[in-house]
Amino acid sequence: MILLDRVTKVYNRSNTALDRISLHVEPKEFVIIIGKSGAGKSTLLKLLTREERQTSGKIVIGGIDYDKLKDKDIPLLRRKIGVVFQDFKLLPNRNVFENVAFALEIVGFGNKEIEHTVPRVLDIVGLKGKEKRMPQELSGGERQRVAIARAIVRQPKILIADEPTGNLDPKHAWDIIKILEKINHYGTTVLLTTHNIEIVNKLKRRVVTIDDGRIASDRANADYGQTQGGARG
Ligand code: ADP
Repeated sequence: MILLDRVTKVYNRSNTALDRISLHVEPKEFVIIIGKSGAGKSTLLKLLTREERQTSGKIVIGGIDYDKLKDKDIPLLRRKIGVVFQDFKLLPNRNVFENVAFALEIVGFGNKEIEHTVPRVLDIVGLKGKEKRMPQELSGGERQRVAIARAIVRQPKILIADEPTGNLDPKHAWDIIKILEKINHYGTTVLLTTHNIEIVNKLKRRVVTIDDGRIASDRANADYGQTQGGARG
């Protein structure tokens, strides 16, 4: 489903952010990506969403070879991949329902489909009854739930969560992780980056460690000590 073969990304001719990364992620897998700041995690995710292009190597996602991808195919690719960020990125002037609906409006869904789909997704993330709240009336954890709802409303095959708990206290962080697990359980591949070693240890999922643009380790059901993996509490 996700295949990277010796992928290199060089910024500005000299800064090698990723150096011949090879990675294979099966459909429905849950993979945690860890590594120190500057290791190359965000670059890896940006290559997957095509925000950045690889300098060399091969990327194939869901049968789409990124070398053959045309600009007109990118919206279709983005429908297959949902993304959640640390800072939520909600539309401040739209309420919860409208924030999620917007992701459907821009790809041409009609009102009927929107009225049908959005409540179901808000239910999955535990925001039923809060449809009319504005982002500023929500807690950080609730805002992140809206962002997750928006990311999954088009039923992507892959959900990328880049430090989704970075701005949250431990309780809300774990609530968000449980939602990611639920979404994964429903069949979506999840790629999660985190600095939170407790989350890594509790999840007991595959952990890929990136160090200086290379894959330093790739372990199933990994459990890390407090000091390993370049992660902080
Ligand atoms: P991480 O997400 O693990 O913190 P990044 O992927 O953001 O790491 O960064 C990896 C390396 O690439 C770093 O040396 C960083 O300075 C560099 N880098 C990231 N984005 C850019 C960019 N747009 N232009 C130039 N260098 C960049």
